[in-house]
Amino acid sequence: MARILVTGGAGFIGSHLCEFLLAKGHEVICMDNLITGNQTNIQHLMGHPKFTYVDHDVSKHISIEGPLDFVLHFASPASPVDYLKIPIQTLKVGSLGTHNLLGLSKDKKAKFMLASTSEVYGDPLVNPQPETYWGNVNPVGVRGCYDESKRFAEALTMAYHRIHKLDTKIVRIFNTYGPRNRANDGRVVPAFINQAIRGQDITVFGDGKQTRSFCYVSDLIEGIYKLINSKINDPVNLGNPQEMTILQFAGEIIKLTKSRSKIVHKPLPIDDPHVRCPDITKAKKELNWEPKVSLQEGLKKTIDFFREEMSKA
Ligand code: UDP
Repeated sequence: MARILVTGGAGFIGSHLCEFLLAKGHEVICMDNLITGNQTNIQHLMGHPKFTYVDHDVSKHISIEGPLDFVLHFASPASPVDYLKIPIQTLKVGSLGTHNLLGLSKDKKAKFMLASTSEVYGDPLVNPQPETYWGNVNPVGVRGCYDESKRFAEALTMAYHRIHKLDTKIVRIFNTYGPRNRANDGRVVPAFINQAIRGQDITVFGDGKQTRSFCYVSDLIEGIYKLINSKINDPVNLGNPQEMTILQFAGEIIKLTKSRSKIVHKPLPIDDPHVRCPDITKAKKELNWEPKVSLQEGLKKTIDFFREEMSKA
């Protein structure tokens, strides 16, 4: 059994990852500064004998007592609304935070994983995006703080792999959804579901012809676990390749929630990617992984989660 540090462990993906690792019998140290994470995401893990929570900003020096087998760096604002509000923290967690955690991994002789993103492809000129595509990123645009921080983090991770022979993994995560998505994080899945179940207008940005593809969180976590335990050091895309327009997605949410909400159009945010879809050939071949949860099944679970949240409020 391994001793694992998960940064961003109180976030959406981080908390699912902590839960999964504990269920596999591992010891988990969860580090977060709750800037976008939430302690309620890990409340149910707090009494677990193999779970520890540490409140810390990974952009500052990190010290952990005892051995570590894995360092999984999942700390970062990840929603466009969040990183537009806190661009400097976003750049710091990807640069200084990644540097601190790579240093810690080197010191502890631990394997390292960077949670990267489909945003490294920017507004892609190739669709779907294979790992070999270098991307089309505006470094000085409003999304640049996230895109470039992750691109720098990837470069630093590969440098530690090449120079210090660290066993590093890079997962490029595409749009992921599920319970514990934050209702107000501005992202399309929580936004549309909450608008639909409250009978509010569904806010489609632009003409809604831009595409995304949505992966249910349990599928993503299984892929991450396979990648952690693989011999791969190059980046791997994980996501669901079922691509649809945002307008189609809005229709799906209205249907599944049986909502009477109507669709309204709002301005398209700056540098909003026109298309996004993962090419998961590599994950299929080298990890024997592909998503299993259908969009309808995953959305039903997520809708149930938000209905329950609403009834508590
Ligand atoms: N979007 C939308 N209405 C919303 C929120 C998002 O139409 O209320 C669109 C957004 O413009 C983008 C897509 O949905 O084209 C996905 O946005 P999200 O913020 O979830 O993340 P992104 O995939 O852009 O990182």
